[in-house]
Amino acid sequence: MTREFSGSCDLRQGLASLPDTAPAAVLTGGYGDPYTVTRTRISHPGPKEALVQLAYTGVCHGDVYVRDGGGPAPKVPIRPLIGGHEGVGTIVAMGTVGMDGFTIGDVVGIARRSHVCGACDACMHGEENHCFNQQVTGSHRDGTFQRYVSFPTSQLIPIPAKIALPSVCPILCAGVTVHTSLWLMKPQPSKWCIIVGAAGGLGHLGIKYAKAMDLKVLAIDGNGAEKETFCKKIGADAFVDFGREDLVETVVAQTDGGADYILVLSPHQSSYDTAGQYASFGAQIMAVGIGNAQ
Ligand SMILES: [Zn+2]
Ligand SMILES: [Zn+2]
Repeated sequence: MTREFSGSCDLRQGLASLPDTAPAAVLTGGYGDPYTVTRTRISHPGPKEALVQLAYTGVCHGDVYVRDGGGPAPKVPIRPLIGGHEGVGTIVAMGTVGMDGFTIGDVVGIARRSHVCGACDACMHGEENHCFNQQVTGSHRDGTFQRYVSFPTSQLIPIPAKIALPSVCPILCAGVTVHTSLWLMKPQPSKWCIIVGAAGGLGHLGIKYAKAMDLKVLAIDGNGAEKETFCKKIGADAFVDFGREDLVETVVAQTDGGADYILVLSPHQSSYDTAGQYASFGAQIMAVGIGNAQ
């Protein structure tokens, strides 16, 4: 889901001519309490930060944990807090000029990660996405459910020209998750890739990326005709409903004996139970959907 913010701003007007406050959706109570839409003071960018005027933000399932608790949310809620981690907009002010690789007018993305330490074992191994001390946008610090956000330039994502900005938002979270999952398997063209949970937020992007990697895609999801039509429309070569009693036999038959690459996006235990049964010898099974769903 993508929500557009109304209003406009001269890119060159700078901090002096910005309003003092701007609309934001703020969490103030305990877990389970709803957002309040109000006006908050625009934070000025500090050193190595940029002030971004957001044009769009996505809304992610991760935002539900931030509001209601559970999953990766901190045990004690951080409040007040502005959620959101899939924002795209334009830099309107810089805290440090000429040192950050960005400038006023640049179109940038703001994603889930807002700080990494650069010193822990994960960072030292080049796996900064797993930094033990990372801060998450819209969870540990204010996120993208607001008109303006000051954000570290080290974590801004340059957005190429001529891309429709609303479509950028889900790519910043779901897109990078599913693309990286496919990419890490180093898939060979023309082989079968099974995507479990293929019609969902990650899955539908997974179908497109897998086809762009020249894979044959078998989509698994539930509730029949509507999702089959959707998955095939965006490129899936085959579709199997997970409700079928002969699910494993059907998938094995349609993939000529099993698939080499299996992307499990569903958190249900049954998805993992069956994935091993339609995997070919030496197949890779990528666990993405992780939770306690039964
Ligand atoms: Zn997300
Ligand atoms: Zn680190």
